[in-house]
Amino acid sequence: MPELPEVETIVRRLRPGLVGRTVTAVHMGWPQHSPTPDELKSLLPGRKVAGLGRRAKYVVLDLEPSDRTLLIHLGMSGRLSIAPPDAEPGVHAHTVFVLDNGHRLRFSDARKFGRVYLVADREAVLGELGPEPLSAWFTVDWLVTHLARRRRVIKPLIMEQRFISGLGNIYADEALHRAGVDPRRRANGLAPSEAGALHRSIREVLTEALEYGGTTFDWVYPDGRMQARLRVYGRGGDSCMTCGTAIERVMLQQRSTHFCPTCQR
Ligand SMILES: [Zn+2]
Repeated sequence: MPELPEVETIVRRLRPGLVGRTVTAVHMGWPQHSPTPDELKSLLPGRKVAGLGRRAKYVVLDLEPSDRTLLIHLGMSGRLSIAPPDAEPGVHAHTVFVLDNGHRLRFSDARKFGRVYLVADREAVLGELGPEPLSAWFTVDWLVTHLARRRRVIKPLIMEQRFISGLGNIYADEALHRAGVDPRRRANGLAPSEAGALHRSIREVLTEALEYGGTTFDWVYPDGRMQARLRVYGRGGDSCMTCGTAIERVMLQQRSTHFCPTCQR
């Protein structure tokens, strides 16, 4: 699943081809959740893309007139790309937004967990999300205070989008490894110094992943270069780069989890 660095990378790549363009038509091959295809077809054409951003794992399109916002969640396998007017139709292009220059913004989604929302109040979808980990208000104090209040196991907690937004399975494993924290511990069992290390490692790993264009995990997201820099994720049985111990792979609340039993306590 695309996480913060992958979604942010997609947004940065799409921005030049999308901002300033007006949507002239919408084709939906498969009706995603909300709104209905009819609502999307009647409300979206004629609106200009005034800005393109990201909140958590959502792609956010600011529109003019501004009484609606288009939100796209890529789900497990969603891809967004801009295709020229003469391009072949994509195999899995389920939703196609035709632009005023003839190009098409394609949302393809083989596994169909992705969603498109056209909403009057963006907070109805985004309002419950926790802080952005690279923003100024994700501070050490905030993390220390909020971990101390939670009994949940640390890894699933930091993947919970209402707690911190943007982390998924890959970067949760990587951040906990860099912080030296065992993913199976309870959040309120972390000492303030460990919470501080986790704060630093979350920012560090996300910043590095952004720099390297995110992680390529399968055909869904082809252009990342971060996979070569991952220290535990996908390396079960391989040697820890720090101490040489074999990286363990266990299932933790239905998610594969990778850690070094020596470096992570
Ligand atoms: Zn180790």
